[in-house]
Amino acid sequence: MDLAAVGLVKFADERANVGRAIELCDGFKELTASKRVLLKPNLVMWDEVLPYPKYGVITTAVVVEEVVRLLKEFGCSDITIAEAATEDKDINSSTVAAYRGLGYPALEKRYGVKLLDLNEEPYEKVDFDGFSLNMAVPALEADFLIDLPVLKTHNSTKVSLGFKNLKGCLARRSKTFCHHREIPLDHFVHQIGEKLAPALTLIDGIYALDRGPAVNGTAHRADLLIASRDMFAADVVGTMLLGMEPAEIGHLAAYAREHNLPLDGSNIEVKGENISDHKMQLKWDWGWLEDNSGPTAFGRMGIEGIYYPKYDDTICSGCAFLNNMVLILLLGAYKGEPFNNIEFLTGKVARSRGGFDKTFLFGSCIIRENRDNPLINEAVPIKGCPPRAEDIVRILNEHGINADFDSYLLYRSSLAARYEEQPQFKEQHFAVSAL
Ligand code: SF4
Repeated sequence: MDLAAVGLVKFADERANVGRAIELCDGFKELTASKRVLLKPNLVMWDEVLPYPKYGVITTAVVVEEVVRLLKEFGCSDITIAEAATEDKDINSSTVAAYRGLGYPALEKRYGVKLLDLNEEPYEKVDFDGFSLNMAVPALEADFLIDLPVLKTHNSTKVSLGFKNLKGCLARRSKTFCHHREIPLDHFVHQIGEKLAPALTLIDGIYALDRGPAVNGTAHRADLLIASRDMFAADVVGTMLLGMEPAEIGHLAAYAREHNLPLDGSNIEVKGENISDHKMQLKWDWGWLEDNSGPTAFGRMGIEGIYYPKYDDTICSGCAFLNNMVLILLLGAYKGEPFNNIEFLTGKVARSRGGFDKTFLFGSCIIRENRDNPLINEAVPIKGCPPRAEDIVRILNEHGINADFDSYLLYRSSLAARYEEQPQFKEQHFAVSAL
């Protein structure tokens, strides 16, 4: 069996180490100067309104910039950066805002890089076995796709590495389709990876994220770069570094089955650092109370009178992000008195079992799912796909919950404050260098 090479190096604030990781896996072996190169970083969201610690959430600008520089040095002239960040007007989240915030326009000027917003690009319908997805044409047509995920955990697929990052190449409707009521998300993630098959995967592990994939996770300075021409091998190594078993990652297990590969890393040659010297023990899941009535924080605070079952795999990123906001608003609204026998349902498939005075239905999908549910006493729809923050606050207040957006603002400030005074967390990693 040919071994798949993975370069594993420390970053150590040396840009040259990006090139070293690529060299160790012979990452540019299949590259020629005339190829159309497309870089797909993970810029899942942006936020111009609230404090936004980016560590472990999005790909650093320093890695993207160095890869671009190396490509130019190689002689490439057709280089594109493409991503489809979450669009949310309330926080000015968009791909363009992310590009602007990270200083990517300088890459445009300096290296002639094209910046594409995959939320707007043309899509092509791609048929898989039993379903089809609309995929961004530039990603399908690239001659040399470079996948630049972050070393992070994910509350549904457990890890969000090379495979998972490629889901960002789908049209929005296809993304939400992947949070399907019958087909596991991991199946889609596996199939998308098979289809796009990047030429090079470089996992940005300068920061690693515990309980990812979003801003409410906890970042660690892992200071690692993981590169391979084999995305599966890169993801296996990334998973091991996060302290998880590749066999427990649905999309990796499916890929291994399909290609008759082991999941213990025995088909991989790691060059550079040893995995065992850098293994972390990060968590992907969020604790929920045993009776499924809410997150463990509800239990710690003695909150009663509310039933808030755990999100399931059918909830998309947009609703999941705001779902966290709802929980923070409820924690802030709790003043020692039980809530008034209320329940909250999210995602696409949960059905009320009745017994509550009010049932809050979060998002268009769950409203539709429970439209004719006779067990609901009073339905409180929070419309939208996903709902808007201001509507959430207003509707909670209209129904007797004293939700104050400032409590969420305080929470977001506290997330950002965790990294202040810690010199290993460097904001400049998220800014393209000045000339
Ligand atoms: S309402 Fe929420 S769960 Fe439904 S498709 Fe929209 S974002 Fe996804």
